Amino acid sequence: MKGRILLVDDNADFLDSTKDVLEDEGYEVITATSGEEAVRKGTSECFHVIVMDIKMPGINGVEAFIKIKKKKPAVKVIMCTAYIVESLIREALALGAHAVLNKPFEMGLLIRTIDNALLQSKIESIILVADRDRKLCAMLRRVLTAHGHHVVVAHDGPAALEEAQRHAFNILLLESNLPGLTGLEVHHKVKARQPELLATIIMGPDSQMDEGGTPALPREVRLTGLSKPLDIPQLVELLDGICAAERV
Ligand SMILES: [Mg+2]
Repeated sequence: MKGRILLVDDNADFLDSTKDVLEDEGYEVITATSGEEAVRKGTSECFHVIVMDIKMPGINGVEAFIKIKKKKPAVKVIMCTAYIVESLIREALALGAHAVLNKPFEMGLLIRTIDNALLQSKIESIILVADRDRKLCAMLRRVLTAHGHHVVVAHDGPAALEEAQRHAFNILLLESNLPGLTGLEVHHKVKARQPELLATIIMGPDSQMDEGGTPALPREVRLTGLSKPLDIPQLVELLDGICAAERV
């Protein structure tokens, strides 16, 4: 999955055909047919990119964009319009819209613009999830991707290090007793090469944690423990907090 897109347009035909094209390109696409629906979905779920029609009945795309941005400042928004409403376009760009596309546009242009926005949005949180439990990894990938994080998975220590050579992760989520190398060993090796790493979360059974839920680990900045079974809402909140703090 290349990225999660919210596609907003009051024209159902445009919505259907564009959704098909974007899904063929490997994006996950959720649709909305009004500004109100866009605000509801855009503020309650996480998307990498929102493609928003400007002219819609009810609240227009620029108004919807402003409401979403208040709650989700990091989301990239591409505005689309068949009408040259200069004042609305200027307002959208001034408020941080990623781009404004004039309809009708080539699908290739839309895809390039989305890819470009994704490159910027992915930098914000790229997480390495390493755990021998494949089901757990698949579930974490699904949940964290839905919350706007880019996730790479590994199932043992050496594979985790290999991935860390390929990607500049900013968060590591590691099983404490990872096969091959422990989670802590992986953390030290990655941190030595990549001091800008934001946070490492070590996941382990309760017995390995102290009373505060912290593993018996050296006190390092943002090295934190999470006991298994994982409390997923707590994990999501922790990650959102780390990313939000770094964006300020
Ligand atoms: Mg329209």
